[in-house]
Amino acid sequence: MTELFWVCPHCETRVTVKENQDYAPTIGEHLATCPKRPKQTIPNITDIVDRETLEGNVILMDDIIDQRILVKDFSLKDLSFKEDTLSLSLQIELDGEDYMLNTGAERVVQVFKTIAHDQLPFYLTFEKVHTSAGRRVYRIKV
Ligand SMILES: [Zn+2]
Repeated sequence: MTELFWVCPHCETRVTVKENQDYAPTIGEHLATCPKRPKQTIPNITDIVDRETLEGNVILMDDIIDQRILVKDFSLKDLSFKEDTLSLSLQIELDGEDYMLNTGAERVVQVFKTIAHDQLPFYLTFEKVHTSAGRRVYRIKV
């Protein structure tokens, strides 16, 4: 009977496949203990995603309240997990730095729905106000 064997590509050991057995378990058994098999490395997110995407200059609404910002671009996205809710992404400039601001603030989103892209860029200031119901909401200062 012919001997079935497999040669490990890492350590070049010739591994005999046991009688009545497939290659797979024999190979798996060897690989689990192979001294030269490179350790499987699980990448860090910084290895697979562009650094800029991670760092991005994201700014929070609360950090820019009452400051005049330059709106350079914006996009409205549907939030698929929440019906009838739009999310607004703003490309803004503050003190000469570019930032991205994401908000779902209803009143702000409503305003941006009426703005066309050829009206860009423009200045605006956000403010935080208390509603009669005691809720705090963001809106555009007039
Ligand atoms: Zn090996």
